[in-house]
Amino acid sequence: MQLSCAALFEPSPVPVLVHRGGAVHYANAAALQLFGASSSSQLLGNPVAPRTQGGKVVRLDGTTVEVEVTEWTFEDAGGPSTLMMFAGLTARRRAEEAVRESEERFWRLFDDAPVAYHEIDAQGIIRRVNRAECELLGFAREDLIGRAAWDVVASGQRDVSRARVAAKLTGKEKLVVFERPYERRDGTQLLLEVHENLILDDRGNAVGIRTALLNITDKKQAEDQMKAFSAELQAKNLELDRALKVAHEAAELKSQFLANMSHEIRTPMNGVIGMTGLLLDTDLTGEQRDYAETVRRSGEALLSVINDILDFSKIEAGKLQIESYAFDLHLVIEDVLEMLAPKADDQNLNLVVEYPGNVPRHFIGGAGRIRQVLTNLVANAIKFTPEGNVVIVVACETGAGQHARARISVADSGVGIPQDKLGSLFEKFSQVDGSATRRYGGTGLGLAISKQLVELMGGTIGVDSTPGQGSTFWFTVPLVLDAEPLLIPGPMHELGGLRALIVDDNEINRRVLHQQIASWGMRDTCLAGAEQVVAALYEARRSGDPYQFVLLDYQMPGMDGATLAAAIKADPEIQDVLLIMLTSVGHWSEVRHMEGASVDASLVKPVRQSQLLKTLSISWSKKTGREAPGKPADQGQRAKFHGRFTGAHVRPLLAEDNVVNQKVALRMLERLGLRADVAGNGREAVEMFKLVPYDVIFMDCQMPELDGYGAARAIRRLEGGERHVSIVAMTAEAMTGAREHCLAAGMDDYIAKPVKLEDLAEALQRVIDRRAAAAQRP
Ligand code: ADP
Repeated sequence: MQLSCAALFEPSPVPVLVHRGGAVHYANAAALQLFGASSSSQLLGNPVAPRTQGGKVVRLDGTTVEVEVTEWTFEDAGGPSTLMMFAGLTARRRAEEAVRESEERFWRLFDDAPVAYHEIDAQGIIRRVNRAECELLGFAREDLIGRAAWDVVASGQRDVSRARVAAKLTGKEKLVVFERPYERRDGTQLLLEVHENLILDDRGNAVGIRTALLNITDKKQAEDQMKAFSAELQAKNLELDRALKVAHEAAELKSQFLANMSHEIRTPMNGVIGMTGLLLDTDLTGEQRDYAETVRRSGEALLSVINDILDFSKIEAGKLQIESYAFDLHLVIEDVLEMLAPKADDQNLNLVVEYPGNVPRHFIGGAGRIRQVLTNLVANAIKFTPEGNVVIVVACETGAGQHARARISVADSGVGIPQDKLGSLFEKFSQVDGSATRRYGGTGLGLAISKQLVELMGGTIGVDSTPGQGSTFWFTVPLVLDAEPLLIPGPMHELGGLRALIVDDNEINRRVLHQQIASWGMRDTCLAGAEQVVAALYEARRSGDPYQFVLLDYQMPGMDGATLAAAIKADPEIQDVLLIMLTSVGHWSEVRHMEGASVDASLVKPVRQSQLLKTLSISWSKKTGREAPGKPADQGQRAKFHGRFTGAHVRPLLAEDNVVNQKVALRMLERLGLRADVAGNGREAVEMFKLVPYDVIFMDCQMPELDGYGAARAIRRLEGGERHVSIVAMTAEAMTGAREHCLAAGMDDYIAKPVKLEDLAEALQRVIDRRAAAAQRP
């Protein structure tokens, strides 16, 4: 066999070893190499067992080589022998080795990771646990490995944990992340976020669970603290809200109280005024009439104070809204001036507006409130100016798109305001002279209301003043330029190039007239006195460029306008010049008598630009024999409608909540020859209707407490079939259907705001016509 073994295996590259009874009997060259022997004598006869252990060969130098051993036993002449064949590692072993190695690397990585990590086997026994977990739970690695996973959770959680592991391994539990309380070895409680993943074998069977643990104890605590904090904050906020609400309620209560009080006072006051009006319509002795008129005037004065308070409390309670609509700023200012002109006239004040031709006129915005502010400022200016001028100047900055900011200033030559009082002027109830013996009346609310209104519109208000010289109050408001103003066609004017001589002792008036005249392409010369007028007319005639117009102020020191006019018209050389007399309200009736004789036309100051243009162009057309466009020459609105309804026995009630709109409508009605009572809202209107047999109620539609529609319906219900008072709606609602809405509420007619004198006059005419028609019906 020895021969045969050597013959058989010696050349084989595969190591082959034969032992008999455990002692090496033969080793081929490849085997010698494998065992690290230089000659066979180093192996032969030695026991084989220490050299081959499991899958390893222990070489002579003590190193090991992994091998795969195939052995079989056979009968030899010398007895039973075992043949061992050694093969190098197979590919599979290498792959397995690689997997194990990478697992080891992987594991080492995990062992160093800052995240707690362990693996359990299919029985739930911890097989691996990393350092971070040991630290986290306070156990040594040996304490954990070999223990059931549920042993290390918090004591109350063990059963749940055990069940969960079973469910997870059988695929019943899918949850991957959950929270669970744990217990450290020292007994401290932890809250951990558990991330679990199944370990699967080649065939996809679950053979264990990998688990990462995240300590969220602090986070949870922080969260809990955060929650507690935010709950506290919420409670505090609620408390604060409540306190604020109480404060608001108190403020609102105060405003509400003021509003209620004002209404409560208004209602009986309205009764007093209404009944006094009825009384004035009866036969009274002169003395009785005087008393009754004083009662009515005092009542009206009291109501206007109450109105201010009402308005102010409305603003304070945040209940005031700015109605925005398209308007002509120039007209609004002229309206205000016209309304206040009689007062200015009484004091002999010169009241003018400078509205440069390049300043836009048509805007969209809170016209009603602008008018209110302006009325306050101009009324104050008149009140605090014993002599001189009150000049309103308008400027406008235009910005991007249609945005503009109008600046309106009211300058007076009055008493002025001391520097130290300027700061508090816009506070409520603030007056420079607050003493009981003060010269000027008032509530000290006007400027406070103005400031609030201007700020509500997004503007600013201010004042400059020098005591003894005068004050300039100004305000700015953002407005939107009206790109498509509704233009009322005016008369065509072919005045370009015509010459006018302006005669006025007041420098500001001359400037304003010059600006207006120049804006129509006319030429002008200004004179400060009457003395040089005749000479100037002669001179112009001689030079071949005569004046076509003289604009003459009626009241001038030295020679008055009437005498001068008469002198001009008596002089054949110059009498063909058109003489336009400008006069104050107080002197208008005198001037009117001169018309057709020494005067061609007359205008009441402050002159509206549109009226001046119309008067000039109509006078010119008449003179040149051309058909005058539009209506025949008149003195403008005021003159035309003056006293038209005096004696018509029309008793109007005005229902309007806005103080200024009340004033405007009242003045217009006054001009038409009517004296109206005023109701501040729908409820008051209904009360007044019950007391006084009105012929017409002008009804604002948007009013507090009861709006115009509600009031109209209530009045119709009260009337039944017996009476029928005319109700004319006045509304800023420019929407289509507004008219239908009014008629549906039982109103008879409708006029749009801002109300114009001619609209009011026409509406009144229709009231009278309806009354006459009703009287004729059987
Ligand atoms: P009232 O005029 O009702 O007193 P306002 O709020 O309108 O209330 O005005 C407050 C005060 O400001 C006035 O009492 C007056 O002392 C002062 N004031 C207002 N306008 C002028 C002005 N144009 N010239 C001088 N003082 C003025």
